[in-house]
Amino acid sequence: MPTSTVTIGLLLPDVLSTYSDAGNATVLAKRLHWQGIPAEVLRCTADQSPPTSCDIYVLGGGEDTAQLFAAQWLLSHRALCQAITGSSVTLAVCAGLQILGRCMTDVSGFTHAGAGILDIETRPRRVRAVGEIVTDCTVPGVGKLCGFENHRGATTLGTETRPLGLVRSGVGNCDRRLGRRREGVYTDRIIGTYLHGPVLARNPALADHLLSRATGHTVKSLDVPDQTALRDTYL
Ligand code: GLN
Repeated sequence: MPTSTVTIGLLLPDVLSTYSDAGNATVLAKRLHWQGIPAEVLRCTADQSPPTSCDIYVLGGGEDTAQLFAAQWLLSHRALCQAITGSSVTLAVCAGLQILGRCMTDVSGFTHAGAGILDIETRPRRVRAVGEIVTDCTVPGVGKLCGFENHRGATTLGTETRPLGLVRSGVGNCDRRLGRRREGVYTDRIIGTYLHGPVLARNPALADHLLSRATGHTVKSLDVPDQTALRDTYL
């Protein structure tokens, strides 16, 4: 088990946290504390230089204008982009997922650059996708995921990019493969998803997957009865 402090960089909580997604950083830190592993959340707002050596980064969702600002902010911090690409583990939710991609097209048809870290692109749907969503997670051992989606963006994955889940109910990315709707993105270092909730509070196995990747140790699953009862109402 790690004895040094696990650092969790909460990026742009002042810009991208309209859906309580900052709570994902709290969940990660809390689950580490419960296992006796020291953890620290570093909040990095838009006026600060981001830390570039965090073990984990967390990006949340946000409105269209806010996310364009966030994309520019990321592009102006290349060392952070390199850390997200190469050495850290990242959770990116909704707008946070979209801005890691190659580009995003807005409702007036204008295409904006993303950080180019993921081979994905996002265009507007005709109608927003709003409501509860349940998926089968593609990360081995994680099982079903549940959350709340609220987005207009439809995200297409490059051919080599894996989804995080296959949709049971709800919308997800709006790209299909072999007849099934897909949700999110799953790479060795990045989990991207449209699920709010916050997603890690509602899906502790996904939190533990991120923690295992970040620490290099298998994080024991914890029995939290209230959480199991809550999940049972959605799954
Ligand atoms: N603004 C983006 C969209 O509507 C992202 C929304 C979100 O982060 N919930 O697609």
